[in-house]
Amino acid sequence: MENVKHILVTNDDGVMAPGLLALVQALRPLGKVSVVAPDHNWSVAGHVKTLHRPLRVKETKLADGSLALMCDGAPSDCVALAYMGLLSEPIDLVVSGINPVPNLGTDLTYSGTVAAAMEGVIWGIQSIAVSLDGPHDPQQQIDFSPAAKIAARISACVLRNRLPKGVLLNVNVPFLKLEEIRGYRVTRLGERMYHDFLVRREDPFGRPYYWIGGDPPSGVPEDGTDIGALAAGFVSITPVHMDMTAHHFLSRLQGWDWESPAVTS
Ligand code: MN
Repeated sequence: MENVKHILVTNDDGVMAPGLLALVQALRPLGKVSVVAPDHNWSVAGHVKTLHRPLRVKETKLADGSLALMCDGAPSDCVALAYMGLLSEPIDLVVSGINPVPNLGTDLTYSGTVAAAMEGVIWGIQSIAVSLDGPHDPQQQIDFSPAAKIAARISACVLRNRLPKGVLLNVNVPFLKLEEIRGYRVTRLGERMYHDFLVRREDPFGRPYYWIGGDPPSGVPEDGTDIGALAAGFVSITPVHMDMTAHHFLSRLQGWDWESPAVTS
């Protein structure tokens, strides 16, 4: 008999987020699923390593009654803790999500969902981040089940094929019924455009404060990119390398005149 795979599920929306429960339930047929997730929402918190305070972990129950661990650290802390001894069994796969909004292009640098997968990769564990291109209305009930089914299919594929060292998969699923989704596209990261603006107001004591607001980001729906695939109704699967070196610029940069004095008189 093949040995049972151990899958760690986490997210950045908090352990009680419905996207996490849908993911856990869809992954159960693939092996043993453990949950270590943050006790509150860490969306857009990026990659965090909490070193300046202790981390606390509590047992909790998901809405289906299953056991989960919640931690007062960031999503990336949850993965690090799980790997470094919180869970006794080795982890075969980290799946982070399902985030209710997409993570595309430079969103990856802000995303707690993706940061959790990055943490997994740093520790040598195969990792996937899954996001849904969900509606922006926070009141709307979201059906995560198509995205959860797709996440399970992609997870099984990763377990069968193995990802190379230092590579995670960033998955984005269109907000469609399963039968409406047109298929899978392996993509590169596209170009995101942010529409943030800065609001300056005064607090009750007359001191200024600043708040970043704005509409959700848009993007260039170019062919071959994550943004293009999602806009066309495909599941986008981007292999993301942790080596952020600008390889295409290395040799040109080497040709710069580094020895020349800063100021010429
Ligand atoms: Mn989130």
